[in-house]
Amino acid sequence: MRSTIVAGNWKMHLDVAAARTLAGAVSAHVRSAALPPQVGVVLCPPAPLLAAVIDEVRDTAIGVGAQNMHAADSGAYTGESSAGMLLSLGCTHVILGHSERRQYFHESDQLVNGKLLQALRQGLRPIVCIGETLEQRETGITQPVLEIQLRESLAGISAEELRGVILAYEPVWAIGTGRTATPEQAQEAHAFIRSVLADMSDSDTAAHMVIQYGGSVKADNAAELFAQPDVDGGLVGGASLDAAAFAAIIDAAR
Ligand code: PEP
Repeated sequence: MRSTIVAGNWKMHLDVAAARTLAGAVSAHVRSAALPPQVGVVLCPPAPLLAAVIDEVRDTAIGVGAQNMHAADSGAYTGESSAGMLLSLGCTHVILGHSERRQYFHESDQLVNGKLLQALRQGLRPIVCIGETLEQRETGITQPVLEIQLRESLAGISAEELRGVILAYEPVWAIGTGRTATPEQAQEAHAFIRSVLADMSDSDTAAHMVIQYGGSVKADNAAELFAQPDVDGGLVGGASLDAAAFAAIIDAAR
């Protein structure tokens, strides 16, 4: 059975005290909720808040992910963090190729691929984001756009390694806009993504891969999105900053 993973992307919000409060509340919920083992929870705070969050979630099964990393082991890359640094801090996951990184920091599929290879080599579980813009959807090229992102971002990854990759389908037009994809739109895109993954590897590998939906997931729409057969949880931005809303989204993943 595939896992269902709910990850919170805190983007560039909060400070150490607020991060401790929010992570503490999520930990308390996860402790009391007795989630089934196939439901995973991951918190992805900004880099300066990682240590505080890791401290708050200790003794729970909650994973902690960075929102970005560099592809190199180390070097003269001012402002960047390496996979080794994140691991030594206690991180378990890393988000790669978020559309905000692609849009504002010009990250290409090739750059994401380099980071992905490094994350897998070092043992961080990657959450790789793909998704079409509104213009691409409206001109009917959603599927070719997703296929190119998949083939280029995941180039050179073995079938065995692919099983450890979490994909996040995040239509750019749904991120932070309040305009969520319908469950049918999400299912159609996820089924297509899984078919491309099967073509890139094999159908058993594709069937095991976790594909999250991201884009204005809220407490009141999570259950119907997560109920779709190819939707394996969500990558949640805005609603992950509200402990009660995020708890309700976690409960929708049961
Ligand atoms: C995200 O940041 O990945 C995201 C999906 O944001 P939001 O839930 O706010 O749309």
